[in-house]
Amino acid sequence: MKTPDERMAEYLGATPIKYRGQIERAMRKEGSPRQAIKAKCLDCSGFNRVEVANCTVILCPLHPWRPYQDEKGISSTPEARGDELGDETDEEGMSDPPEAGETA
Ligand code: SF4
Repeated sequence: MKTPDERMAEYLGATPIKYRGQIERAMRKEGSPRQAIKAKCLDCSGFNRVEVANCTVILCPLHPWRPYQDEKGISSTPEARGDELGDETDEEGMSDPPEAGETA
């Protein structure tokens, strides 16, 4: 039987490198709750930010808090969009909803 650390290492090994650190910090409770929500939504959506933005699971408790909501309506494939948004190299260029008490 695998230990929790072995299971986490296995999971992180299957996580895209770009998001691995972000996911690991969330799992180790090293980031903020907002970062953990982002990590969960990315995991849930196959690490596709546009899929998170266009998520239709309104009964998910994280739905109102999910990141990338300003990308709603954008197709999830670069071919359909005809632009570069599918290249997820610009992590910091995407804005998140404000945290409680924070102004947008
Ligand atoms: S809000 Fe959507 S993307 Fe985020 S965890 Fe819930 S179902 Fe998944």
